[in-house]
Amino acid sequence: MKVITTIQELQKELASYYVANQTIGLVPTMGYLHEGHQTLAKAAVAENDVVVMSDFVNPTQFGPNEDYEAYPRDLERDARIADEVGVAILFAPSVEEMYPHQGGVTFEAGPASKILCGASRPGHFNGVLQIVTKLFQIVRPTNAYFGQKDAQQLALIEMLVRDYNMPITIRPIAIVREEDGLAKSSRNVFLSETERQLAPNLYKTLQVLQRNIASFNQKKAIEQIEAATKGRVDYIELLSYPDLQPVTSEDTQVILAAALYYENVRLIDNIIFKVGE
Ligand code: AMP
Repeated sequence: MKVITTIQELQKELASYYVANQTIGLVPTMGYLHEGHQTLAKAAVAENDVVVMSDFVNPTQFGPNEDYEAYPRDLERDARIADEVGVAILFAPSVEEMYPHQGGVTFEAGPASKILCGASRPGHFNGVLQIVTKLFQIVRPTNAYFGQKDAQQLALIEMLVRDYNMPITIRPIAIVREEDGLAKSSRNVFLSETERQLAPNLYKTLQVLQRNIASFNQKKAIEQIEAATKGRVDYIELLSYPDLQPVTSEDTQVILAAALYYENVRLIDNIIFKVGE
């Protein structure tokens, strides 16, 4: 596996694949890889001639009081893990390489970016769409892999590709969990020991809520999650998926999505399911 840090070198490396019309899989990540990322990469390796994984903590998707500086980073470890699952190129650019110009064109995502995580992270999804668009332009992948863990992000990227006619297939990958049900996340390292023990109750409560979805009540759901996790709920919402609208009798697929604050970390989780299942 090659670790590449410049756009020029990356494109030189990919040139023969473009010419031969071969398939390129892209797995965008912020690094500090875990089994969730590996699952995305394995799917990409199975479905493409070559796989590029990006490893870049994107500053434009972090708010001023968020954890950009503290976000865990370990490129050497990431390179080992990516290599193990068959990634051919790990693209790990610097911030200067990705953003050499200031004050140019940025993205303004629509209403679906202002709810759920977007409500407490203003501008976050504009930054996500900016970096994803740049990566799509730089790599020109055939297929790009995203986790359902970040279901709102996935929905917005599907909208981006649709609205801007990008010739890329988005491949969604199911949430990978720890044995006790906690969704794997690079940020789980910020959980205290007690929080780590209680955190799986977020998913357990979502499962209980799913089983009783006909009587879903937001206020009660907040109380249930907070009692079970001892965290503070940022949101718990039941919406249609992937359009993220209030559920109507027409909708068949819905998302039950939640975010929870602990002392040094904010966790997200969700269940996407068909109504009546
Ligand atoms: P991140 O490095 O957290 O930005 O995540 C990079 C990609 O991996 C995103 O598409 C995430 O949705 C996906 N991902 C992160 N954690 C998981 C997980 N536990 N299961 C599945 N996909 C995940």
